[in-house]
Amino acid sequence: MLTREQIVTWLMACAEVFQQERDFLTGLDSDIGDGDHGINMQRGFAKVAEKLPSVADQEIGQILKTTGMTLLSSVGGASGPLYGTFFIRTAQVADGHQSLTLSELHAMLREGVEGIVARGRAEPGDKTMCDAWWPALAALADAEARGIALAPALAAALSAAEKGVQATIGMQARKGRASYLGERSIGHQDPGATSSWLLLLTLARIVEE
Ligand code: ADP
Ligand code: MG
Ligand code: MG
Repeated sequence: MLTREQIVTWLMACAEVFQQERDFLTGLDSDIGDGDHGINMQRGFAKVAEKLPSVADQEIGQILKTTGMTLLSSVGGASGPLYGTFFIRTAQVADGHQSLTLSELHAMLREGVEGIVARGRAEPGDKTMCDAWWPALAALADAEARGIALAPALAAALSAAEKGVQATIGMQARKGRASYLGERSIGHQDPGATSSWLLLLTLARIVEE
């Protein structure tokens, strides 16, 4: 079971993680984009951390909706609307919940990723954040089918996401700014896939504790 408190702890921890990883993500984005992805994520989650205390005692849907709205209004570029949509869509599935089972968490993340796709139209292999999420979702589906507990299921999802991130190195970007580079985008790790992996990494760590 993932509790409301763990969701809040996760989102607050993301603010710290994106502070720490800001230069790393920005470096990745400098290679194939405009070098602002770390700044975008750091700024967005700093705002989320500011807003969270006012909704931390509400149900999970409200917490996630506030996160999404905050990212939508404070982060520009491609990733702001995409991550904003992700969290707003997860909120719809989590609406009214004080805790989430693995199956509910899986449904929630799947819905969030569907939101990203509805907005950005990414396909597998396009070198986007979805190339981290899709393998993670597949691992969650598999864990759910096998009746695995939440912590090992998230560990499996994280490791699948990590492989997905590594695989973006060999991909040619077909969405977003990196696609302007054509074949020159090959050989670089996608910044958005990397930040998606960091979101999962942070969640997996909270659940392990
Ligand atoms: P911008 O490119 O506007 O500066 P960011 O640098 O914050 O925005 O985010 C770039 C990341 O956004 C990319 O690394 C990629 O993972 C993701 N991205 C861009 N376009 C799309 C899309 N259409 N679908 C999914 N993800 C996308
Ligand atoms: Mg950028
Ligand atoms: Mg930008």
